[in-house]
Amino acid sequence: MSDCVFCQIVNGRIPSIRVYEDADFIVFMDINPITTGHCLLTTRGHYPTTSDAPDDLLARALPLAKKLAQAVMIGVGAEGFNLIQNNGRMAGQLVDHWHLHIIPRKDKAELPLKTGEPADFTKLPFVADNIRSNL
Ligand code: AMP
Repeated sequence: MSDCVFCQIVNGRIPSIRVYEDADFIVFMDINPITTGHCLLTTRGHYPTTSDAPDDLLARALPLAKKLAQAVMIGVGAEGFNLIQNNGRMAGQLVDHWHLHIIPRKDKAELPLKTGEPADFTKLPFVADNIRSNL
């Protein structure tokens, strides 16, 4: 995908600050970091979302994220981290090339994440039924 920004990073056509690479993945610093140390674990191949990516590749991504997150936390002195992976515009995905955000956390005040509301238990079983029937 010649117009994909992450394909261009993978191919070295636009610069990135890389912290890791192997035959299938590269990891580079996000240029709009949510916290210091925020980096992106990306596939070399172009897969727009998790739904498009091969299972074996996805199976290798999480152990790699675990290793990277450990290094990121030590590297910036963080005590926790978020792994965030957006799929589709409705989920906030801006770059249509599979990637996982590794976001180290030092301070709860940094958390911009919206907390949930108590579930409506008259509806929750039906939501679960709709999910189960599509597995
Ligand atoms: P998402 O909303 O999950 O698609 O996130 C895309 C992320 O890619 C954002 O956090 C951007 O800051 C980041 N990003 C976009 N272009 C670049 C780039 N050239 N180098 C590093 N990070 C980038």
